[in-house]
Amino acid sequence: MQKNIERIIEKPAKPGMVGDGFRVYNFIPGANISQRRMSPFLMLDFAAAFEFGPSNEPRGVDVHPHKGFETVTIAYKGSVEHNDSTGNRGIINPGDVQWMTAGAGILHKEFHETEFSKKGGLFEMVQLWVNLPKKDKSTAAHYQPITAADMGKITLPNDAGVVNVIAGQVNDIKGPAKTYTPVNMLDIKLNKGGSFTTKVDATHNTALLIINGSAEVNGKKVNEHSFVLFANDGEEINITAPEDAVILLLSGEPINEPIASYGPFVMNTQAEIYEAIEEFQNGKYGELV
Ligand code: MN
Repeated sequence: MQKNIERIIEKPAKPGMVGDGFRVYNFIPGANISQRRMSPFLMLDFAAAFEFGPSNEPRGVDVHPHKGFETVTIAYKGSVEHNDSTGNRGIINPGDVQWMTAGAGILHKEFHETEFSKKGGLFEMVQLWVNLPKKDKSTAAHYQPITAADMGKITLPNDAGVVNVIAGQVNDIKGPAKTYTPVNMLDIKLNKGGSFTTKVDATHNTALLIINGSAEVNGKKVNEHSFVLFANDGEEINITAPEDAVILLLSGEPINEPIASYGPFVMNTQAEIYEAIEEFQNGKYGELV
């Protein structure tokens, strides 16, 4: 049975700025999609393609903490440099994904990569926050740098396009990301006239975002930059592209635990939030300049 569509949500009227480098449309929770409704996905910021002029000072977000969940950065256009308090440093280039488990706590900073900054250009990105179950919230911070070459790759028949499996599994193809709860994350690139059909557990919270182009999703027309929230019924998703399209498909088993969320910290109780703030203020998340 095909999944029903619960809501089609157009891009919010105005973007917000995260630091001075990320001009984002917030869908979760900003577009009235609660953290519980899309659990384990707590946050989705979409930096729709935007042309940044050249700058010798890289734009971005300076040192800040996270605790209790994972940040997932998907680069479509432009490059991001990441540094964190565990000593990791990396560049996230187009086609790459960085999967950072903040777990017990981390400090990091995210800036446009130096060379990209100097030249300027189109910048297009998604950042997701994926919750951790209570038992894994205090896992030591770490990250998975996943390059375009690491992705599980499905070449669709009839030149319909390509699906990069970032996390989870489609048919026999597995994604490289290690997740704490069942999560599927697919980067779907369809050529004009191409189509892709897949199945997702009916119980999963499931949604897709049209990054570029437009699509017909289970028979409904969906515009560029729109978000489709599926009902928790049926399994089948059918996507047809009347023009070249790039689509992010997300699904995950809901984590049915209390959510206490405050800025960069997502825990289960308010007491744990106070604890996180105190740990941060006392320098427990290490050092980063
Ligand atoms: Mn961050």
